[in-house]
Amino acid sequence: MSELEKEILCQSTDEVICPHCGYSLRDSWDLQDDHGKLECDECGKEFEYYRQNLGVVYSTYKTEKKDETAAYSALKGEKK
Ligand SMILES: [Zn+2]
Repeated sequence: MSELEKEILCQSTDEVICPHCGYSLRDSWDLQDDHGKLECDECGKEFEYYRQNLGVVYSTYKTEKKDETAAYSALKGEKK
């Protein structure tokens, strides 16, 4: 039986995402090289990663509870 491949967002992400299963590496910043091969911790498959130096972006928000939720939604790109 074949399972349709899920669409995995692994392009221009802020963490290395396994293109096989979508697993997100927690410590992508710790990778020494801008390009290399990795074995997924989750599914064990090998994949290549590239680190694109598109620029690190920072955002700041006031630490008020309600704003925090709005800011988080904004970060996730929800426009509602
Ligand atoms: Zn995987």
